[in-house]
Amino acid sequence: MAFELTILGSSSALPTSERYPTAQVLNASGRFFLIDCGEGTQIQIRRQKIAFGKIRHIFISHLHGDHYYGLIGLISTFNLLGIKNDLHIYSPSQLKGILQPQLNLLKAGLQFNIIFHPLNFKKPELIFEDKVIEVISFPLKHSINCCGFLFREKIKERNIKKEYIQEFNIPIAQIRAIKQGADFETENGKIIPNEQLTTPPPPPVSYAFCSDTAFHPPVVETIKEVSTLYHEATFTEEMKEWAVKTYHSTALDAAKIAKMANAGKLIIGHFSSRYKTTDQFLKEAQSEFKNTETAVDGKKYSIKA
Ligand SMILES: [Zn+2]
Repeated sequence: MAFELTILGSSSALPTSERYPTAQVLNASGRFFLIDCGEGTQIQIRRQKIAFGKIRHIFISHLHGDHYYGLIGLISTFNLLGIKNDLHIYSPSQLKGILQPQLNLLKAGLQFNIIFHPLNFKKPELIFEDKVIEVISFPLKHSINCCGFLFREKIKERNIKKEYIQEFNIPIAQIRAIKQGADFETENGKIIPNEQLTTPPPPPVSYAFCSDTAFHPPVVETIKEVSTLYHEATFTEEMKEWAVKTYHSTALDAAKIAKMANAGKLIIGHFSSRYKTTDQFLKEAQSEFKNTETAVDGKKYSIKA
């Protein structure tokens, strides 16, 4: 299985002629998760030809405008398009109070329910799961409450080797337990260890989104071995002092986190509009973590385990 990430916006607070503020869509086995929703997100969704009706789960990392000002426009568009399914928003609890006065003024009323899920800024928390995917929020270190998100395929069961089913006459009733790791006892009392009967499942695909944050090593515990890590890199090292002051990261900080987490790949974004190119960001990050790419609006990234 692979996930597909589409970057909709990779600028920081000020949008530029090439970069929208933060927004991304993660296609995780057909589930379309919108991560942050800066101004203009709905235009980028249209450009990328992503069906609006598929987006029913939105994750908002924090309440700085460049991460959610696109939300009311997008909700209005869902409404005008006649979408009726529930919309789930995972965000700081204050968002409901911010949106409600505008929602109350929608002409024809809202055609669907919005279910708000408040984030926990104290510790990592499972905020979504179904049969295949789970999503975990985890606290970051920013000037206001801010969370990152880990999207992870659930670990599958072990594969039983077919030839042993016949050889040891394994009853169907016991196959489930063996796939989950149990040993098998034969009729004459011999124990066959699970490692002999099964092969391990394929490694799970995962994607971590580290939104606005200062350099913050505690996140590593949650995102360890992640397939692809997105980490903000608002500045380069020449502006380290300013980065610390504003609770942002440099490209080098992002690369250090990727290395500590043993990530498969790093994507950096949220570039300050004062930089004309991202060359220096890439050079700096790659000096610490080779497999780094810079985020580009409209670009798709395939995420494999
Ligand atoms: Zn911020």
